[in-house]
Amino acid sequence: MFSFTTVHEYHLSLINKKYSCLDAVNYYLDKIWEKKHLNAFVEVYRQEAIEKANLLDLIRREGKPLKKLHGVVIAIKDVICYRDHRVTAASKILQNFQSLFTATALQFLIDEDAIIIGNCNCDEFAMGSTNENSAYGKVLNALDEMKVPGGSSGGSAVAVQANMCMLSLGSDTGGSVRQPADFCGIIGLKPGYGTISRYGLVAYASSFDQIGIFGKSVQDVKLLLDIMSGHDKMDSTMNPEPMCTPAVKEDYKFAYFKQALEHEGLDKEIASQIKSYIDTLKTAGHEVTEIDFDLLDYIIPVYYVLTTAEASSNLNRYDGIRYGYHSSIEPNNLAESYLTNRSEGFGAEVKRRIMLGTFVLSAGYYDAYYSKAQQIRNLLIKEVDKIFSVFDGLIMPVSPTTAFKIGVNTKDPIAVYLADIYTVFANITGVPAIALPLFSHSNNMPFGIQVLCNKKQELLLLQISETLLSLTKKALKND
Ligand code: GLN
Repeated sequence: MFSFTTVHEYHLSLINKKYSCLDAVNYYLDKIWEKKHLNAFVEVYRQEAIEKANLLDLIRREGKPLKKLHGVVIAIKDVICYRDHRVTAASKILQNFQSLFTATALQFLIDEDAIIIGNCNCDEFAMGSTNENSAYGKVLNALDEMKVPGGSSGGSAVAVQANMCMLSLGSDTGGSVRQPADFCGIIGLKPGYGTISRYGLVAYASSFDQIGIFGKSVQDVKLLLDIMSGHDKMDSTMNPEPMCTPAVKEDYKFAYFKQALEHEGLDKEIASQIKSYIDTLKTAGHEVTEIDFDLLDYIIPVYYVLTTAEASSNLNRYDGIRYGYHSSIEPNNLAESYLTNRSEGFGAEVKRRIMLGTFVLSAGYYDAYYSKAQQIRNLLIKEVDKIFSVFDGLIMPVSPTTAFKIGVNTKDPIAVYLADIYTVFANITGVPAIALPLFSHSNNMPFGIQVLCNKKQELLLLQISETLLSLTKKALKND
């Protein structure tokens, strides 16, 4: 039976003729079929994936060298454009819309011979933390099907968690890769802002959005990052500097926010596990320093003011006239046409955010909300600069709780927003961050820690991640 550990080992087994790319694709197609009820995929590119696998098997047998992602089976979130394939952002307003071009990041993967197996379910326009705001219905967490997988990239997380693909892409505006990775017990990386091209990523909040990676090994996540981080002139917000090459180090200097670990909303068991992990880090020779962070309570309001403002502007383009959902009600005038198309096409959460964003941008409230939030964003960026002038990494929880029951938070959007407290900081400040699955809760659900590094320090972040993961493996063995 086919099994997958890392791309490197998979390639060795292809070279040794233990498996073919077709074996891999068939294995994942079977898994997708078997676990259809988890609702992780919006569409599966079955025929295409089989044809590509056959082609790659032929190329390999001709003795041609393998490209970096030869036969690597990857799923993408339904917000990433793939020419001639549907992209809908899990929204009725884009139902049946076909991409006219391919996102640069995805093209980089295809150019390295990746096999794209399908696109994954998510919260509508990537707005949410549970995957319950999708026009295609909820996604189930494979570890406990009564629970949410997290969101907004819930389908992409479950696709990796439940072995329906080797790696997957999500998008992370305020935690949508790291939080579902945490809820599903896998690795989730959000690169720094400007590291991966956003060209072809459906926009939610353009100064926060980044394509992120789900995987089960740091090595594979790094491989995708290396390939996707190539410069793209189609995205003028890309940071043209290459990622820094980190020095090889044994011991790191970490900080953590006192207020983050003492926050009343943080599950007690998560807090105590992270605290004892900090002790383990110190015993292993790392320096870990508690620092004060008085701005913690501002970060959720800053995030929701700025992202809804950007979303209200970005989502203006969906009017149901040029493309997308068009209401069957005959309008009396143009305004009514916009109104019916948008009222019927968007879901409740998206409407809530468009209204909130329009409000904070309105003439009477702009200074009180939007400008204030921008000022605090600048303060937070200065704070992060200070932290990383001293420390290699910042440690935080990923989410205040483990995955919760489907349906429990649907009536209280504020409660869901507040749970983004630990993830939005990296998006507000534009630094890279990763969720690492380290622990198991007494409720049997996984959780881990989040590590943040300075801008352009993704490779340091991944180097640190290897160290931290191997430390728990050792700690577990010693138990
Ligand atoms: N939960 C956050 C939100 O709803 C994060 C979304 C995201 O990262 N796309 O805005």
